Amino acid sequence: MTHSDVETVKADSDHLRGGLFTELADGDTPFSGGSGTLLKFHGIYQQDDRDRRRELARAKQDLAYSCMVRCSVPGGILTSEQWFEIDRLADVVADGRLRLTTRQGVQYHFVHKGDLRQLVSSLNRGLVTTYAACGDVVRNVMVTSAPEQGRDLERLDRFARSLSDRFRPRSNAYWELWVDGERAVTGEEAETDDAEPIYGETYLPRKFKVGVAWPGDNSIDVYSNDVGLVLAPGRDGTPGAIVLAGGGLGRSHTDSTTFPRLAEPMAWVSDEDAGDVVEAIVKIFRDEGNREDRSHARLKYLVEEHGIAWLRDQVEARLGRRLDDPVAIPDWGGPRDHLGWHRQDDDRWYLGVPIPTGRLEDTEFVRRRSAVRDVLARHADQIRLTPHQDLLLCGIATADRDAVEAIFAEHGVPLARHLPLTVLSSMACPALPTCGQALGEAERILPELTDLLDGLLRDRGLDDVRIETRVTGCPNGCARPYVAELGIVGRTKTAYDIFVGGDAVGTRLASLLIESVPLTKL
Ligand code: SF4
Repeated sequence: MTHSDVETVKADSDHLRGGLFTELADGDTPFSGGSGTLLKFHGIYQQDDRDRRRELARAKQDLAYSCMVRCSVPGGILTSEQWFEIDRLADVVADGRLRLTTRQGVQYHFVHKGDLRQLVSSLNRGLVTTYAACGDVVRNVMVTSAPEQGRDLERLDRFARSLSDRFRPRSNAYWELWVDGERAVTGEEAETDDAEPIYGETYLPRKFKVGVAWPGDNSIDVYSNDVGLVLAPGRDGTPGAIVLAGGGLGRSHTDSTTFPRLAEPMAWVSDEDAGDVVEAIVKIFRDEGNREDRSHARLKYLVEEHGIAWLRDQVEARLGRRLDDPVAIPDWGGPRDHLGWHRQDDDRWYLGVPIPTGRLEDTEFVRRRSAVRDVLARHADQIRLTPHQDLLLCGIATADRDAVEAIFAEHGVPLARHLPLTVLSSMACPALPTCGQALGEAERILPELTDLLDGLLRDRGLDDVRIETRVTGCPNGCARPYVAELGIVGRTKTAYDIFVGGDAVGTRLASLLIESVPLTKL
């Protein structure tokens, strides 16, 4: 679908409804192209099993369609009750697996079209939304939400919640389609007016990513966002944030005018003004962003073309006042994965549990889903998802630590200290067989790659060296390979581009070292 087709679908959709009501009535026939576009705003992608595509096409049969459903989890923060519902539904309407995403969300794969309503309405009743998890809107807001000592968690949670609420679409289509008009997540009655005060009729030209970083912890890769906020007091000590703008990693192998870009400092704002400033930037993107060519429809291309000073002028003009200059960004220290045991401010603990490639499932010998569920039921009170596809079990009493470890051992689940650094420091996107954009493998080749890397490092006595490694199945870069020390990006099913030279804390872009390396030579 061309960019102008997408724009037409949005404009003609009656605020994200289109033909979805009618098409949902038939649980077996795949969604049409226009409905597939609108579904994304509801947090759903229609996909086909890429492993079977060729065989089915050859046999002139329909492709094996199913849906990916993504929960939007502001800051990755979930109560136990929310988690239990998310977990329960994996068996009821998906393939028994959950996938933790690189933006602190959770995905279900292989959901049958006929089960979508049950899944989305049950999630909403469990106070979890999928609204705006995908689509041309502000996506899930990332926050460095690990409950470390010395962090103002209430403030971080407030940023996650307030920015998410502010940028959630207002159209009632979501409630009508999935939850019978009830506004379950906020507990409010459905609005009678569909007007979109921020997005307008055609929403944004494309997705828009926002992240909030605690100083000294860049685990969210704040520079990769369209807008990043780095919490830092102003020159007079007022609580606030440095506003970074113009980041984004997607590029194309075939169009050299597309490129990854790091966000750069634009201004400093107080906590209370931050939402207004982010909203002004979102509206500038809405009005000035490229609506002709989706591959150039990101804020980063506007900032690259006009400069960060231009963006600041535009924001000031919209707000009708001057902004303060950015203060210096505090040092990021080292890479942070939050794995293992850490003490919280309330003298309890959180345990960071590695979930390789974010895949949470029970296999015969390793039952990660069960272990997490058991610990949450007995010893923890909250779960926080990390930007590295891992999870943190929070609020564990000192006296319960041994019992928690015993649960993981009982279920055969290795903790961070049992796994090599190469596994802990690597991420991969889902790619094949589910992602329609994938050109090559990612998640499925990661174990082999980390084994290989681990062997190479061990042979040289370097097994204590941590190398941030990211693998993606296409240049869109969902696992953020271009800000890693080692980025491996799918070009075809058998060839990969290798990027090196990002730093350990995501402040420098990697550059292309070798193009099109055969998989066997990686
Ligand atoms: Fe799909 Fe590409 Fe994103 Fe991987 S990087 S999930 S292949 S779009």
